[in-house]
Amino acid sequence: MRAPMDDEDKLAISALQHFRFCGRQFALIHVERLWAENRLTAEGRLMHEKTDVPAAHATAGTLVVRAMPLASDALGLYGVADTVEFLPDGTPFPVEYKHGRPNPHGSDEIQLCAQALCLEEMTGRAVPAGALFYGKTRRRKNVSIDAALREKTRTLAAEAHALRERGETPRAQYDPAKCDSCSLRELCLPECGDAAEKLERAWRSRLLAD
Ligand code: SF4
Repeated sequence: MRAPMDDEDKLAISALQHFRFCGRQFALIHVERLWAENRLTAEGRLMHEKTDVPAAHATAGTLVVRAMPLASDALGLYGVADTVEFLPDGTPFPVEYKHGRPNPHGSDEIQLCAQALCLEEMTGRAVPAGALFYGKTRRRKNVSIDAALREKTRTLAAEAHALRERGETPRAQYDPAKCDSCSLRELCLPECGDAAEKLERAWRSRLLAD
């Protein structure tokens, strides 16, 4: 477990999803501070703009808190949970809403687990499970916050912090399953391989010379 860190050094929980999806995407956004939006990111952002309004209400003994701020000193993470249901015995149960469908990268489960670990640190209560709700399928998928998922999430957080501290941007590796839906494709130029790296280096050295 890493030592507690200052708030400005924490990473957004969403950064873990970027890191899980593609290390280069993570570095372009969180090291080089580049961003571009495509249809998928715009739809997700609009959905969250509508739902990210803090509110709380009780139903059948469960307290439902929306847009709950989260943080973990141990993992160096911060974020906002779409919804946290506090069950009648006080157990927090995070629920994350997704515009699309379940993805094969496991990044949604990582995001949910990171939220659960933040909640455990903030409340001192165990968080054994949470749920993902997908807009396209209208299905709620329960997720066990088990030992394997916790380990994976902690490891990813440590690796993401280490990559940001090194300030490295991994080289592009074209993978149609990822790159064709990536909002940074036009900035990344994944098909160009070495040519793009050379172009980028030449552009940077020209900028420095100027
Ligand atoms: S285009 Fe591909 S290699 Fe480049 S950042 Fe996106 S997913 Fe990663």
